[in-house]
Amino acid sequence: MVARYIAKDINEELARREIIKTSPAAVSFPTIYYQHQFGRIPVGQYYLPVTQFLPSYHMTYCTSCWKVGHMRGKCKSHVCCRKCLMLYVNGLKHTCLMDDIKCVQCGENHLLLSSTCPVIKQYRDEFKVAVDNALASGLIKRKSPGEASRPFQVQDDDFPTLIHAHAQGQGEARRFWQASIPQVPQADQSNLIREVNVLSAAINALSDTMTRVEKNLNSLNTCIESQDKRAMLYNNSINAIIDTCFTLSNWVQASNSERTKLKKNINM
Ligand SMILES: [Zn+2]
Ligand SMILES: [Zn+2]
Ligand SMILES: [Zn+2]
Repeated sequence: MVARYIAKDINEELARREIIKTSPAAVSFPTIYYQHQFGRIPVGQYYLPVTQFLPSYHMTYCTSCWKVGHMRGKCKSHVCCRKCLMLYVNGLKHTCLMDDIKCVQCGENHLLLSSTCPVIKQYRDEFKVAVDNALASGLIKRKSPGEASRPFQVQDDDFPTLIHAHAQGQGEARRFWQASIPQVPQADQSNLIREVNVLSAAINALSDTMTRVEKNLNSLNTCIESQDKRAMLYNNSINAIIDTCFTLSNWVQASNSERTKLKKNINM
């Protein structure tokens, strides 16, 4: 059973024709109107969550123009026959003969995705190498046999988005994934290194300045201490001078008997 989301404004008959083109075996088309905000859809006796469709890592090809490397949602070409590439015209019955078969990838007379097509062969080979590399680097993981399956939950890095050849220039190597770590462009890297070097030099200079400032502060401290000692010495000397002056003034003012007494005191 396959459920397709189709917007309400698309005619049911048109939707049916489009589905038949991609899945010719489809037989029954029941329509389910569901409330989008509930995010669930009843299937049998189950009420299943509706999750975003994420393309698997199979060969990606367009079901409109049939070229590999992009999907229908991104296609700008008209819908055409997958066998003879004739554009579909609404309401016109189309049958193509074996001689009309033309490959959209290489223009030769074989069916779409044929293993004889050189473009498809190259695409498969490159894709295989890309998958092996992505597995080796841990960008995608392969479930090991016997590993218990967990209930489905979308993790951000479960489905790294495939990027496709059409987004790249002709002649460039095909890339299937973006590298997991965004690469810093070469020019940016050298700029970064230059800036780090400048910053490192500035930090060294700052460190030297700090050492010099520290030395200066130490010598200033020593200087202040010696000034302090000198000031104390001056203070003591001044006190001594004042005492002497006082004694002298007493001497001058005193009577003879008192002078004899003072003399005795001084001699003592
Ligand atoms: Zn296309
Ligand atoms: Zn045809
Ligand atoms: Zn071909």
